[in-house]
Amino acid sequence: MKSLTIGVLALQGAVSEHLAQLQQLGVTAIAVKQIAQLAQLDGIILPGGESTAIGKLMRNYGFIEALQQFATNKAIFGTCAGMILLAKQLVGEEQAHLQLMDIEVQRNAFGRQVDSFQTELHVKGIEQLVPAVFIRAPYIVKVGERVDILASYAEHPVLARQGKLLACSFHPELTSDLSILKLFLQECVAK
Ligand code: GLN
Repeated sequence: MKSLTIGVLALQGAVSEHLAQLQQLGVTAIAVKQIAQLAQLDGIILPGGESTAIGKLMRNYGFIEALQQFATNKAIFGTCAGMILLAKQLVGEEQAHLQLMDIEVQRNAFGRQVDSFQTELHVKGIEQLVPAVFIRAPYIVKVGERVDILASYAEHPVLARQGKLLACSFHPELTSDLSILKLFLQECVAK
């Protein structure tokens, strides 16, 4: 694989873990705080955190339009709050954020008792089970035709791809398993 440069949107949330995993795979990893940095990237990760806070900062710094433009030919991977940011629609909310991916997402969808939990998932295209940490996680309630569901938990889609866009409900950066990140690099960034 040619040497890649991947950014992690660093306005709020779990940024450093993604940077570390990218470096483990020999990828040049950049914490992105300004829209000018997008020009040097092959793809970007929108991390977990608090989607309302990240969305607000994105709006303030011009990232909404800049990332909508970026997505016309570059890859974006949203994890947890990042999935919420990518969604075209959010249950019970009038306005979504980037509205790039044809999914409708329910925030904090797994309810209070199981706010946070760890499990293992069958993922389409990955042979071994993938460990997944869910923290006040969203899930997908509706997908458009162009969206491929790659994993579900309790019958709810939690990992999906639409061309160069990938979204997951959980936090792959909080485990030592790099398979979802590799899937992003191979299927979304390199293609
Ligand atoms: N519950 C958070 C939100 O709605 C997402 C949680 C996470 O990213 N771990 O934005």
